[in-house]
Amino acid sequence: MNTKEKDSKYIMHTYGRYDVALKSGKGAVAYDEDGKKYIDVSSGIGVNSLGYCDEGWVKAVSEQAGTIQHMSNYFYSSQASDLAEKLCALSGLSKVCFGNSGAEANECAIKIARKYSFDKYGAERNEIITLRDSFHGRTVTTLSATGQDVFHNYFFPFTGGFKYVRANDTDALGEAVSDKTCAVMLEVIQGEGGVNILDKDYVKALADFCAEKDILVICDEVQTGIGRTGRVFGFQNYGISPDLVTCAKGLGGGLPIGVCLCSEKLKDVMGPSSHGSTFGANPVVCAGANYVLDTVSDEKFLGAVEEKGAYLEARLRKIKEVKNVRRMGLMVGIEIDGNAHDIAVKCVENGLLIITAKDLLRMLPPLTVTKEELDEAAAILEKTLKEK
Ligand SMILES: *Cc1c(COP(=O)(O)O)cnc(C)c1O
Repeated sequence: MNTKEKDSKYIMHTYGRYDVALKSGKGAVAYDEDGKKYIDVSSGIGVNSLGYCDEGWVKAVSEQAGTIQHMSNYFYSSQASDLAEKLCALSGLSKVCFGNSGAEANECAIKIARKYSFDKYGAERNEIITLRDSFHGRTVTTLSATGQDVFHNYFFPFTGGFKYVRANDTDALGEAVSDKTCAVMLEVIQGEGGVNILDKDYVKALADFCAEKDILVICDEVQTGIGRTGRVFGFQNYGISPDLVTCAKGLGGGLPIGVCLCSEKLKDVMGPSSHGSTFGANPVVCAGANYVLDTVSDEKFLGAVEEKGAYLEARLRKIKEVKNVRRMGLMVGIEIDGNAHDIAVKCVENGLLIITAKDLLRMLPPLTVTKEELDEAAAILEKTLKEK
């Protein structure tokens, strides 16, 4: 059996796969098992933030694997404490909790928000408001948090205590809030929901409103975090100071990690045994994340992310079939006529690894992508759109 046949036989079909078995990569270029070359503007859904097999990242990870590959959380680890210090310094937040994925990071944020409220106001004040079209993960609780009805199926009973409001609607938020509300959770740019960039005025008003009522603001930065928007954190484009911030995808540079950061007022909410994760804070993963963060947090690097994003947007806007581009940094949604999934499949056939978000095409290129690679990607997209 070849890879595809074996996959079909032995792996649960929870994904519709493109007809490609990837084998290797360098930067923004990937190769399949037949040696065919692809420009990759998906970077494993924003995970390979420094592209495939960045030299410094490979060195950091392999050296750590050869030094000590894992210790339990009952021991101290310099890789984890260094990473936590950097995350706090860059975000203005106070403490970090480690896990292995975006959903887990969000679970952690939900637990902290509820425990803060429990400790201060009692068990009844436990509701969390999230936005329509949000995406917060695939665990039973983060599916509940996800404000899309299609995700609230089959797996009953779902975790209670979530309410959904339309994004960019301050009145709707005001109406949904009650004396049971403990937190509001949002993505400043809804990734899976269609690259919906929230209005600055709305996010600011939401944060002020919540601060007045001691309702916590949770920013899910699983997709927007770690340089993707041209700032280290997406919320930094909005001039707010969230109480809780979660990151995952791009932080590890390709290894699984999820972190939940909390503000000063929440730093002692979680005590011993209130949360944990066997693999959380793994030193190999943290070594990779330390390298990613050192690279990405450089002002010049961040400036280049925005510059390359603007360059790509201008190029995409020249394509007649492109109706609109929604973008911040290198997080790009492309509005087109026609079925986005079918177009994406054709792009892949033509050598461009691209993803979709709802009815949009979506690009999340590695942050290290070059303008030449972006030109090449846009050319393949243009050719594909003309073929239809
Ligand atoms: C991908 C994503 C998640 C889920 O992350 P996993 O690592 O797949 O659990 C949560 N929130 C947002 C905004 C995401 O984009």
